[in-house]
Amino acid sequence: MSNSVNELAAKAQIDFHCLEADCAEVIKFNLADIVSKDFQAVCPKCHKAYQLDASLRDKLSRMLDLIQSIRKAEDILGDAMVSVNVAGGDVRIPYALLLTRLNTLITLDFGDRKVDFHLWIEPSSQDTFR
Ligand SMILES: [Zn+2]
Repeated sequence: MSNSVNELAAKAQIDFHCLEADCAEVIKFNLADIVSKDFQAVCPKCHKAYQLDASLRDKLSRMLDLIQSIRKAEDILGDAMVSVNVAGGDVRIPYALLLTRLNTLITLDFGDRKVDFHLWIEPSSQDTFR
């Protein structure tokens, strides 16, 4: 159980741009790490440390729950399609494509600022989504 969580942790990464005006370096961390209460994200360039408050940690940890649920349903989603009606017929897009090819962007309040977080997820197996 904890093994699969660790495995997921390596594959669900989140990043945002440093809020220091003259820095804007990309700060990347594992989504699973943020559940730890004393977690800090540190900018690799200017070394500014970001402490995530309880509400932000809560939102991100629920995002992690969501990813874990998707992960559990991977074999089902691998066969599922989204059907989009277009002129002259419909286009079928495998869920797998939606999950792996689109990067998720979430905007959350970070202190008094709105920050865009990019979420990077890889399927647990390279064979799952082909
Ligand atoms: Zn920085």
